[in-house]
Amino acid sequence: MYPASWNYKPYYSLEAYFKEYFGEKIYKIALDAGMTCPNRDGTLDTKGCIFCSEGGSGDFAQSVSDLPKLVADSKIRTPFIAYFQSFTNTYAPVSNLEPIFRQALIMPECAGISVATRPDCFSSEIYALFQVLKKEFPNKLIWIELGLQTIHERTASYIRRGYSLSCFEQCMEALHKIGIPVIVHVILGLPGESHDDMLETVTYLNRFDLFGLKLQLLHVLKGTDLADDYEQNSFQVLSKEVYVELIADCLEQIRPNTVIHRLTGDGPKDLLIAPLWSLNKKDVLNSIHKKMKERNTLQGKQYHDTGCRNNL
Ligand code: SF4
Repeated sequence: MYPASWNYKPYYSLEAYFKEYFGEKIYKIALDAGMTCPNRDGTLDTKGCIFCSEGGSGDFAQSVSDLPKLVADSKIRTPFIAYFQSFTNTYAPVSNLEPIFRQALIMPECAGISVATRPDCFSSEIYALFQVLKKEFPNKLIWIELGLQTIHERTASYIRRGYSLSCFEQCMEALHKIGIPVIVHVILGLPGESHDDMLETVTYLNRFDLFGLKLQLLHVLKGTDLADDYEQNSFQVLSKEVYVELIADCLEQIRPNTVIHRLTGDGPKDLLIAPLWSLNKKDVLNSIHKKMKERNTLQGKQYHDTGCRNNL
């Protein structure tokens, strides 16, 4: 029932994308390039986003300086994408960023880079850097990952995101102009958001020529301010049943050629307070597939092309 090009899954996964375009599996290696973030260094705030762990949302990341040795010692699987995950990876002068990205791109085992950042941490020099790298490494992937989390300003203010939706839109437009594919991160289950609020965020993203989407279940991690709110019972996390229904509803709305990079969460076991059911990732994914099958549905079933991509 589901397309062979989607590996017979009810959605267009990253795995299927790699198979389609590269004919093989490509691994993502999470890296820590020693960055910080304006939400942590005092520029905007010192406390960080309310859900963010001490590792800057990169709790499994390895130091970027170890990358050559990891490859030489066959400690990572190849070919790989160097995923600059921890903190904000464009929050530094171009003279610092360029050698870091270049070091990964010149490695033959590296299929490309994926740079996690915030839309308010770009400058014309940084856009120009990505243009230069794109030209210099035409056979490598160069992606940007933006943590939007929600389109709703009241939630954005609760989570202390620190930038506006219009800032996100301007950044999307600028990246689209220079031909850099963007993956947007959305968190499902944020306190105070209804089912319709979350669907609204997902459908809003259809207006962009979005390459990829990460749907991430809200995780409550130890040591975060979110954990304090959770312990004071100010909100509840989603149950597996509610999450699976919600994901099915979201997938139906998402443009069919948007690559789904994530449908669950990757909370570190030792830091995760809730929801604990999310630790069984295989079970969550199987439940989503089962639900989609039961509904006889697939990604994009309810999608309507409004024709307004990157035309804000
Ligand atoms: S912007 Fe990213 S790194 Fe910075 S506090 Fe928020 S989640 Fe953490």
